[in-house]
Amino acid sequence: MIPVAPSETPADISIPCVAAADGVAMGTIHVLRLDPDPSGDSARIFSVEEVRQAVESTHAQLEAFQRRIHSRIEESVTQVFRAHLAILHDKDLMDWIEGGVRAGRPAVAVIREAYGHHIEMFSRSPVARLREKVQDLEDIANRLVRNLHGGGQGGAGLHGRIVVAHALYPSDLLRLVAQDAAGAILIGGGTTAHINVLARSLQLPLVVCDASGAGRLTEGTAVLLDGGRGRLMISADPEVLTAYSQLSAADQAAPRPLHPCTMTADGCRVRLLANVGLLSEGQMARDLGADGVGLYRSEIPFLLRDDPPNEDEQVDIYRRLLDLAPGGDAAIRLLDLGGDKIAAYFPHDLGPNPSLGLRGIRFSFRHPEIFTCQVRAILRAGHGRRLRILMPMVSSVDSFRDVRAVIERCAASLAGAGIPHNPAPSLGAMIELPSAVLLVQEIAREADFLAIGTNDLVQYILAVDRSDDQVAAWYVPWHPAVLRAVRQIIDAAVVCGRPLSVCGDMACDPVLLPLLLGMGITAFSVPPRRLSRVQDAIRGLRMDTSAALAARTLASPTIAGVEEQLGLPPSRFRRGPAAPLGHGGVKES
Ligand code: PEP
Ligand code: MG
Repeated sequence: MIPVAPSETPADISIPCVAAADGVAMGTIHVLRLDPDPSGDSARIFSVEEVRQAVESTHAQLEAFQRRIHSRIEESVTQVFRAHLAILHDKDLMDWIEGGVRAGRPAVAVIREAYGHHIEMFSRSPVARLREKVQDLEDIANRLVRNLHGGGQGGAGLHGRIVVAHALYPSDLLRLVAQDAAGAILIGGGTTAHINVLARSLQLPLVVCDASGAGRLTEGTAVLLDGGRGRLMISADPEVLTAYSQLSAADQAAPRPLHPCTMTADGCRVRLLANVGLLSEGQMARDLGADGVGLYRSEIPFLLRDDPPNEDEQVDIYRRLLDLAPGGDAAIRLLDLGGDKIAAYFPHDLGPNPSLGLRGIRFSFRHPEIFTCQVRAILRAGHGRRLRILMPMVSSVDSFRDVRAVIERCAASLAGAGIPHNPAPSLGAMIELPSAVLLVQEIAREADFLAIGTNDLVQYILAVDRSDDQVAAWYVPWHPAVLRAVRQIIDAAVVCGRPLSVCGDMACDPVLLPLLLGMGITAFSVPPRRLSRVQDAIRGLRMDTSAALAARTLASPTIAGVEEQLGLPPSRFRRGPAAPLGHGGVKES
């Protein structure tokens, strides 16, 4: 059963926020910024030796975090704390600090001064990558000061802490996880869908608050965060707290293995696949008994690193994925970089409107060296294995053919060089753009399989940026136009006899599942942690009643009519744009 969130009581102080990555966390706030001296003894005089000792302790802590992240995330080959270590040992900074200490000044003041100067300089930089470094500088300065005072929290990491940040990048998330943070709050809505996806993969509960809520989130305040429902409470009523702690325990319980074969109550077989971003999720999908990997987001290893993985490194990742995938079946999606999934080393591709810019295969065509390197790696990894390749952001038959031509050229070049590879992978198209819906029959004829990316389909049909909180309430997955598009895609797949799955958030929405099933979808790809809940929901549904529901719902030309059929409360988009994504359910990916 899907746990029900306890409702709030007047005793709770709720801070408005938007759901970003599900999970419940309770803990005390830690604000990522330059702390005041934690000991309050900022005038104390330390020797140069003591400062050096604090630098060594900080170094050892950072290395320990690095080891911890490696043990949890195999593909983070990069040193996520490398920049931290470089800053820690930076000669200019060390000369400044040691010079001040030798002159008899209090070490804490000199550390603050030296780091503060660089923070000020970096935060004014027009270069985004330098601005990103501000948080690293703040973190190290805080660690150094704490270690100078004999360690404490800096050494213990962030266990039980809910971190408040004004910006979060993929490497920040890795660091928070390495330091065992319980959850995170992003202030100012600077989130992007890939940060949400990554936070979910890393199982780090996350919400986004606007700046007005930040004032209450002071260091040490006890808070309760529900990242799936978009709730943040301080001074919560003890009863609510208890109810939430039970929910928290349920959320954190290991996901339940699936029944061997997913069937509706009236015996229709449904395929349950997993969306995978990290290899650890592939392992989880296998352990739980999923039917395969319906979507492997190959951009995730690119986003976790400071430089793109080379061909051999990618071969290794894809091979391990194919070996892990249940039944050896995984649809490897070609890079979907761009839009809000910008790797730190491609800062210039953002453009004025990233969602409509160089994204997915457009990005790959702009960077042919990255494109061919990835395709070669996938083909090599698929040697002797079943191989399915999925194309993101297909907008025309032509773009599908262009990608196929690149794949064929790479296969020919590998064959010419005598390199073992899979010469004939199955090729699938993500149907997630309105243009692809209008041409879906023709694309289906060319493709071996189709996958509906509802996250983007909703975004592009409704012209609602999926990462812009200001328009979140207009992101209505059950909008009649979206449902009609899904109807067209299903019809084309049936006419052309092509396998079809849904791999966007709609696939794990308990309210929309019967609708999709009733429309004829029988393969759903969802995050591994949601597999058993989705299976439970499917096992309780009948095809005949679902089909009747779908027929009634699709007959409605209005959002209100659809909501009435689905038993949803009147749409929040008529109540103003502050409402969170989803209809109180868990936003998934
Ligand atoms: C989608 O668009 O629905 C999808 C599954 O892909 P992503 O969320 O990675 O864009
Ligand atoms: Mg998509």
